[in-house]
Amino acid sequence: MKSASNLLAAPDLSDEKVLRAVCGLRPCRRGGLRIESDQIGSKTVIHNYGHGGCGVTISFGSAEVACDLVEESSDKGQSVAVLGAGVIGLTVALELAERGYHPTIYSEHAGNKTTSGLAGALWLPVGVEFGSDPDQQKLKKRILHRSHQRFSELDRSVYGVELMRVYEPTQSHTTHSIESDLFESGILEQPVGINSFPFECDATAGRRFDADFIHTPIFLDALMARVNNLDIPIIVHRFDDLSELEALEESIIVNCLALGSGALFNDENVYSARGVLVHLESQDLGYIVHDGYKYMFPRKDALILGGCFQEDRWDSVPDQLMIDAILNHHRRFFGQMQ
Ligand SMILES: Cc1cc2nc3c(=O)[nH]c(=O)nc-3n(C[C@H](O)[C@H](O)[C@H](O)COP(=O)(O)OP(=O)(O)OC[C@H]3O[C@@H](n4cnc5c(N)ncnc54)[C@H](O)[C@@H]3O)c2cc1C
Repeated sequence: MKSASNLLAAPDLSDEKVLRAVCGLRPCRRGGLRIESDQIGSKTVIHNYGHGGCGVTISFGSAEVACDLVEESSDKGQSVAVLGAGVIGLTVALELAERGYHPTIYSEHAGNKTTSGLAGALWLPVGVEFGSDPDQQKLKKRILHRSHQRFSELDRSVYGVELMRVYEPTQSHTTHSIESDLFESGILEQPVGINSFPFECDATAGRRFDADFIHTPIFLDALMARVNNLDIPIIVHRFDDLSELEALEESIIVNCLALGSGALFNDENVYSARGVLVHLESQDLGYIVHDGYKYMFPRKDALILGGCFQEDRWDSVPDQLMIDAILNHHRRFFGQMQ
């Protein structure tokens, strides 16, 4: 029996609290995240796409690797075109500016108007392939370490980043790779096993750990503000054909077009993993429940209920069947099914 005085508040998941449902397509790539240099016509193209379900998590680390490749093929101070203005394009443009380059961003949409704005986002490397060969695994370790360090160096109130306690039920679908990537490598402290959750619910407890939670609306606005402060131009443009790259004045291009890379660069390994989220009125709970893609994030603007990871589904309209499944899952978990 739990003592009521020690319990954390459970969420109110009643119909009256539901605000909306949203749906986004995670930009995945079979065979692994692509960060490499390519020659297309007269242009050197550095690719940085395929971040799947954890682009926010690995944004800074992958930006550093992509910018190292820019440095290998150009002189400092050069103009560089950055295609895309989701979290990946923005962090690349800022990293280039910090290294003394002159980036210009070209993109159809920017910041919170992109898929990046839909992410929760919990700092966890899930839903992404890095590739299995030793070099790719080494790269993964470097990206994770650097990204984690960069998040910890941010002015966390300005960028909307806070450390939160994450509770996982025993049957959680969290992938095993997290164990070695995060806990055994020491990036995050080892999880603690628990026998019961510190809130009313019907599930069997498993473990808890602490991880960064990124309030993406605040985070992306802060990245956009920094881009504007540094006078990095953002040119609204949609690319439909590779010949449009030749028309750019920059000879170095960093491609951060996510799913858009598939059609433009003819990469058949690019695929989407559809995610539906239900937003409820914001509730100040101070903890996360993480059960694979069925998670609950107390973001400042809304209580976010996930979700799903539907591979090769390209429809980005939330469907009622999934909305009901998400609400029922969380109501069952918290013992609130009518
Ligand atoms: C439901 C959901 C939940 C998620 N939760 C998390 C989480 O908890 N933690 C986490 O780390 N990540 C999470 N993610 C994943 C994360 O959102 C993505 O990995 C990340 O947004 C990828 O960033 P990106 O900049 O590569 O892509 P995008 O944000 O999609 O940006 C792509 C950019 O390219 C532009 N573009 C594309 N094609 C063209 C074109 N042809 N011409 C011109 N411009 C173009 C777009 O306008 C946009 O500016 C989640 C994603 C979803 C959908």
